Amino acid sequence: MQFNTYTSAGAHIAAALVNDPSADERALAGMLAGYEVHEPVPAQAQVLALREWAGRLRAVFDAPAEADQATLVDGLLRASDCRPNLVSHDGLPFHLHYAPVATDLVARVRALTAAGLAHVIAEGGGHRIRCCQRTGCGRVFVDTSRSGGRCFCSVRCANQVNVARHRARRRQDQQA
Ligand SMILES: [Zn+2]
Ligand SMILES: [Zn+2]
Repeated sequence: MQFNTYTSAGAHIAAALVNDPSADERALAGMLAGYEVHEPVPAQAQVLALREWAGRLRAVFDAPAEADQATLVDGLLRASDCRPNLVSHDGLPFHLHYAPVATDLVARVRALTAAGLAHVIAEGGGHRIRCCQRTGCGRVFVDTSRSGGRCFCSVRCANQVNVARHRARRRQDQQA
């Protein structure tokens, strides 16, 4: 499966918001700018509003099945008043805006994250929107790997689990 980087950006932003619930203005501005969100610097009130939205986004990553995810994301599309528009500005090629740039940042990020998650599910990738399998990690991610078989949020979590499995096996061998 090939994910268009622009349409899936919203899904990655959703994961970033969920993973860093205490992000401040600077951290959020840096993260959003990294995904080429226009005018990405939030005010304090907007930081709090995005934190609240992140709670709704987490439910999508935690959902047990694709049908549940679809229902939740459909709700997010409505709640965010997501309205795709094809625009070209500042010499950029035509691209989709999910809310007008003039709208406040929170409204734009809500619409963008809802649209991003919706695109991934609509492309058959609902199972790719998931939580790290290391017990106690709690971080979420969108698996854009070719195989779609990524289990962990990071190399660090993968290594920790592998080391623990290795130790458990060795203990078993010693007891045998
Ligand atoms: Zn634009
Ligand atoms: Zn992890």
